[in-house]
Amino acid sequence: MKEFWETAILGAGASGMMVAALLREQEGTVLLEGNPRPGAKIAVSGGGRCNLCNLHLDLPCYRGDSGFVREVFARYDQKWLREWFERRGVATRVEKGSQLFCHDGASAAVDALRRASQKSVLHAGWRVESFRREGEGFVLSRQGGGTVHCRRLVVASGGLSFPKLGASDIGLRIAESVGHRIVRPAPALVGWTLQPSQAFFKSLSGVAIEVKIRIGKRLWQDRLLFAHRGISGPAVLNASLWWERGEVEVDFLPDFDLQTLRGSRKQLSTLLPLPRRVAKAFLADLGIDDRPAAQLRSDEWKTLEKLRGYRFAPAGTFGYSKAEVTRGGVATEEIDPETMESRLVPGLYFTGEVLDVTGELGGYNFQWAFSSAAVCADALNGKYPG
Ligand SMILES: Cc1cc2nc3c(=O)[nH]c(=O)nc-3n(C[C@H](O)[C@H](O)[C@H](O)COP(=O)(O)OP(=O)(O)OC[C@H]3O[C@@H](n4cnc5c(N)ncnc54)[C@H](O)[C@@H]3O)c2cc1C
Repeated sequence: MKEFWETAILGAGASGMMVAALLREQEGTVLLEGNPRPGAKIAVSGGGRCNLCNLHLDLPCYRGDSGFVREVFARYDQKWLREWFERRGVATRVEKGSQLFCHDGASAAVDALRRASQKSVLHAGWRVESFRREGEGFVLSRQGGGTVHCRRLVVASGGLSFPKLGASDIGLRIAESVGHRIVRPAPALVGWTLQPSQAFFKSLSGVAIEVKIRIGKRLWQDRLLFAHRGISGPAVLNASLWWERGEVEVDFLPDFDLQTLRGSRKQLSTLLPLPRRVAKAFLADLGIDDRPAAQLRSDEWKTLEKLRGYRFAPAGTFGYSKAEVTRGGVATEEIDPETMESRLVPGLYFTGEVLDVTGELGGYNFQWAFSSAAVCADALNGKYPG
């Protein structure tokens, strides 16, 4: 069956639903969603509580063109986002100092977005398989028949992470087919697998400790979780956004001065500010017998210092099935940050995670999805800045 629409939005996730919600005339708009229900990622996000945004909208937390990101946030920031949800009955609360969560669970955010976009038509279970241009418009088809013709197309199909929640590469294929450059996608906000030299980490599976991780000039202090497949936890997840193969440096004793232990008659494994299991495993790895600190030779003190700057190269990541986001995507150089419209194809828009903009943990990715959506909706409403 053929359908004709003024605007089609590919993907009823965070970004696509926000575009629809902000349209002045929703009646001519169809949301195409492969899942049976919209907002699947929002529903599971933040452990089911959805970390909507962060009170500190820090640009250095984003990977992508900072000028492009700044222009979007200059118009739609965290204050706007918080107010938008609160005005629609979504109570929020701040945790960990600056992270804004839905007080009554993530489904409150999904419901608010759906209510606000309810005059648009939702085609759920409509998985777009192919795309073509026709005249000044676009045609989207799904497997097993059915086409949607539209004059304007918003690609809000997200990244490649969590395929079981509906992720697909359709947005990248559409962009590439019309000549956009794609920044190589990779799993991000994801755990690392290990080389054989760190195989002993696996014996610590389930233990979490505070660490500092350094990659180049970037530094994160947070928890590291030893997992069966490797290492995870917020410090690792954030670092994974910036990691490009090669070595990373972990300080397993953040803010601790080893020199304060010199002369002590207590066993090293009880003196080190680490769970005993972890201390023993690292001492064994460093080839230092667990004995009173006072008995250590000076070369052993030097070896012990390696815990402050433990360098190793992760083998890889846990992959898209575990990654919270995908970094890379449609390069922003050919996207207008005032409208989110393609500079190559009039009427074609990209918003959210499908673009080459990715944030660290803390609500930064929903912020991007919602703010880029709002900029796009302004353009579709015929409202331009200035
Ligand atoms: C487990 C988990 C927890 C997260 N927690 C947080 C958090 O607390 N805070 C935060 O800021 N970020 C979080 N994120 C990241 C955040 O969910 C995403 O960055 C955000 O959802 C991106 O919005 P989007 O609209 O661009 O993409 P999505 O929300 O992924 O929406 C894209 C939509 O397009 C649909 N789609 C894809 N391909 C097709 C197709 N071919 N045909 C039809 N439909 C299609 C998908 O089914 C999906 O509904 C989390 C991610 C995961 C996986």
